[in-house]
Amino acid sequence: DIAYVNGRFGPLADAVVSIEDRGFQFGDGVYEVIRTYRGQPFAIEEHLARLERSAQALQLLIGQTRDQWSCLIREGLRLSQFPETKIYLQITRGQAPRDHPFPVSSAPTTVLTFREFHPLDVSVRNAGVQAMSFEDIRWGRCDIKSVNLLANVLARQRAKEAGVFEAILVREGMVTEGSVSNVMVVRNGVVQTAPEGHRILSGVTRAFVLELARKEGIPVTESFVTREELLAASEVFLTGTTVEVLPVVRVDGYAIGSGSPGSVSRLLSRRFEALVG
Ligand code: PLP
Repeated sequence: DIAYVNGRFGPLADAVVSIEDRGFQFGDGVYEVIRTYRGQPFAIEEHLARLERSAQALQLLIGQTRDQWSCLIREGLRLSQFPETKIYLQITRGQAPRDHPFPVSSAPTTVLTFREFHPLDVSVRNAGVQAMSFEDIRWGRCDIKSVNLLANVLARQRAKEAGVFEAILVREGMVTEGSVSNVMVVRNGVVQTAPEGHRILSGVTRAFVLELARKEGIPVTESFVTREELLAASEVFLTGTTVEVLPVVRVDGYAIGSGSPGSVSRLLSRRFEALVG
């Protein structure tokens, strides 16, 4: 595995940052996860645009232009040589003595890691996964892809303990998103998903899938569903960089629709595979 830290590539095992880094002390940083298809990074512009939005929301200065990021990514891919790669980018407010206000002078810490990407098993994808609902206790700016993931960590841990794939987060009765994915439902033939805003991360995959649905003539609604509407939906699926389009066949033990992946989920999954292939 390869890592890049502040200007230098090397083995990931040797990569270090200071314990005074604000990412470590405060979670004062942002990140992105990009994956490759056939060795090529997918939707790099969309991910970098979101990284810039996240950084801007935190008044965090990014030292790299998009072209410079692209060069770093290409170089990392050349050095790591995996069939498929999971590229992780992180920028923090840098190293400074621990004090809550922004340091007067500190250079951001820039980290990239390149690890082999292992796609989900085809059998898992074809069978669909189970999920559980879980209270969304995150902060008020879930649109910022910050490295503060404690609420997501707790939710996914609970899902793991329950033997299910994903925790579907519910705030004040409304489904927001998954701990590592966006959530879509199919109700009366309409694809419905939470609207963009402070409650969810604006998923790159979400945007592609909504576009694919519209192209197929499937109506799309960006509005919240309740947990009850989720359970009563004819289909539920997750979208995300690592999960792609992943059918959910059971939530909190209740079968969704027939209890196997529905036709809209399967169609959008196929269309997404075609898009990235
Ligand atoms: N929502 C959350 C909380 C996430 O961590 C992710 C990341 O994968 C997503 C949604 C999906 O976003 P994307 O499709 O850009 O990977």
